[in-house]
Amino acid sequence: MTRHLITLYPEVEGHIEVTDVATPQTNVRYTGVWQGAYEGFLPGPDNLNSQLEMRIPGLDGFTLIGQWITPGGGLPPAAQSGRWAIQLLCKDLRREFITTLAPAWVKAEAG
Ligand SMILES: Cc1cc2nc3c(=O)[nH]c(=O)nc-3n(C[C@H](O)[C@H](O)[C@H](O)COP(=O)(O)OP(=O)(O)OC[C@H]3O[C@@H](n4cnc5c(N)ncnc54)[C@H](O)[C@@H]3O)c2cc1C
Repeated sequence: MTRHLITLYPEVEGHIEVTDVATPQTNVRYTGVWQGAYEGFLPGPDNLNSQLEMRIPGLDGFTLIGQWITPGGGLPPAAQSGRWAIQLLCKDLRREFITTLAPAWVKAEAG
């Protein structure tokens, strides 16, 4: 890989002090993710518009969230599923679901 980089950018030669290469196995080591899948299920024609149930009958108090909820995965659906989980919890507890902006965001908006 270093040789390939130097072929593309010769000026890099002699200036590389550390290299760190992440493979799918690295994902497995750090997150325990299945087969190193970096965004969950591969989206395709058969599953693109589908979504897994977040609740499993018979498993009370459990809500499934994260990249495996929606084919295609990634950060936005993972974060969205966290919001849905809180909405479900509020419904269970008969509490109103309310949102507020993070203080740092409010400060940034105010300029
Ligand atoms: C190299 C790379 C680049 C990416 N780039 C993008 C990008 O540009 N845009 C994008 O949208 N997405 C990107 N993704 C995908 C995105 O990072 C994931 O889809 C997202 O982080 C998944 O969130 P998650 O909460 O489902 O899972 P994770 O973030 O993997 O969280 C699962 C957590 O559970 C912990 N865990 C696992 N097993 C156990 C256990 N038995 N007990 C306790 N804890 C456990 C893990 O340590 C981990 O902290 C990238 C992923 C990789 C690997």
